[in-house]
Amino acid sequence: MPAILLLILYLALTLAPLALAWGQGLPPRGLWDEIASGLALTGFAILLVEFVLSGRFRSISGRIGLDVTMRYHQLLARTAAVLLLLHPFLYRTPFGIDLPHDPTSQLRLNGDAGAIAAGVLAWLLLCVLVLTAIFRRKLPYRYESWRIGHAVGAALLVLLAAYHTIFMGRYSAAPWLTGFWLALLALALGTLAFVYLVKPFVKRRHPYAVRSVRPIAERIWELTIEPAGPRALSFKAGQFVWLTVGHSPFSPYENPFSIASAPGQREIRFIIKESGDFTGSLDRIAPGTIAYLDGPHGSLTLDRHAAAKGIALIAGGVGIAPILSHLRDLAATGDKRPVILLYGNRIAEQIVWREELAVLTESLDLRIELVLSDPPPGWTGRTGMLDTDTVSGIFRSPDADDWVYLLCGPPAMMKAAETGLLSLGVPGRHILAERFDYD
Ligand SMILES: Cc1cc2nc3c(=O)[nH]c(=O)nc-3n(C[C@H](O)[C@H](O)[C@H](O)COP(=O)(O)OP(=O)(O)OC[C@H]3O[C@@H](n4cnc5c(N)ncnc54)[C@H](O)[C@@H]3O)c2cc1C
Repeated sequence: MPAILLLILYLALTLAPLALAWGQGLPPRGLWDEIASGLALTGFAILLVEFVLSGRFRSISGRIGLDVTMRYHQLLARTAAVLLLLHPFLYRTPFGIDLPHDPTSQLRLNGDAGAIAAGVLAWLLLCVLVLTAIFRRKLPYRYESWRIGHAVGAALLVLLAAYHTIFMGRYSAAPWLTGFWLALLALALGTLAFVYLVKPFVKRRHPYAVRSVRPIAERIWELTIEPAGPRALSFKAGQFVWLTVGHSPFSPYENPFSIASAPGQREIRFIIKESGDFTGSLDRIAPGTIAYLDGPHGSLTLDRHAAAKGIALIAGGVGIAPILSHLRDLAATGDKRPVILLYGNRIAEQIVWREELAVLTESLDLRIELVLSDPPPGWTGRTGMLDTDTVSGIFRSPDADDWVYLLCGPPAMMKAAETGLLSLGVPGRHILAERFDYD
């Protein structure tokens, strides 16, 4: 879906409650009361749409990238939290007191004990959800436990908040607005059901089996899987999947990995760096272990850059995985455009598939620039960090802005590379990046 259409849809959904409230023509209250209601109406709508943003829908993330979608998810959740946490403190009208000049009770806050309790609980739960998301890495829980807790907590939060809104909100009691909230609530909870029940059910029908797991560089492994049935995964070079190995497709154990092999082959190869629970136990995976995929996802793809005069591939560490998929695909399709691979690592032992990279220079118009920050004696490649100067030095050319640039690696490296490219006048739309970390 085009980004502008997504934005219009988003604004329509999140601002609709304000319009539906305003359209009721209720007698005006003081400014602070109207601001408080406005914050609550908008904040709750943003919160409900958050479920869709985090639902891994390709129609949403396909264009802007899943990392950007998740950034918006985080940013908008915090915005909604500020609006919702603030709103109860802004009301100036009395609560539950009959006013002589207000026979229809329009100018005071109403609500039974249940609606108030639901609001207070939702308020507290919102604080917990936002804080545990921001400080997730400091908590003594596995990522999977946090994720399930986050999803269950979010579902409980919107149910409590919906009850509070409909039975206490001045405007939300009106049938149109109540209907709107119920529809948005169904969409939010339906998204959860889709992600945690429907998708795993579909995955279960297309199992894969591990073919091999082997170390290929320092603390880096290659995991190869192949479909158990006749259907091979259709994907584009540079995309990634969520991979479940040795668990039920309904389990929370899944990790995102870029596909390192080229499209069009039955087997799917991943390059995985040891970093935690799953990635640190790859040596214990036996061939034949069942695996499931959710994907393909991601927009680090060349399909919208067919007119690019050259292709620049910039990888740091295990960020080589999607880049290698591109190199293998470019070789398989006989692409004639010039390609430059800039590949940074700390030590030489971390460079993966060095022999294959050398062979690729024979079939592609490929120049390889290896950079090591801690080079061994006699190293003839580049040395130092893969920083802004390295990038702008290598890609400085008269037609630099006609190339497409694919970036994948540690956040600091990607930032430096992007800065270097922008300083050369490369338009931002020619720079594509995949982040391995959403925090
Ligand atoms: C789009 C994308 C592509 C990636 N491609 C590769 C790759 O090709 N090779 C590679 O080595 N690494 C890749 N990663 C990183 C890889 O997913 C993590 O290193 C891995 O999930 C860590 O899992 P763990 O159980 O070993 O460690 P844990 O200690 O359980 O997790 C470490 C961190 O990894 C992240 N993570 C774990 N599980 C998930 C999940 N289900 N969804 C999102 N984030 C999660 C969290 O930030 C977590 O804090 C990629 C990440 C992303 C987002």
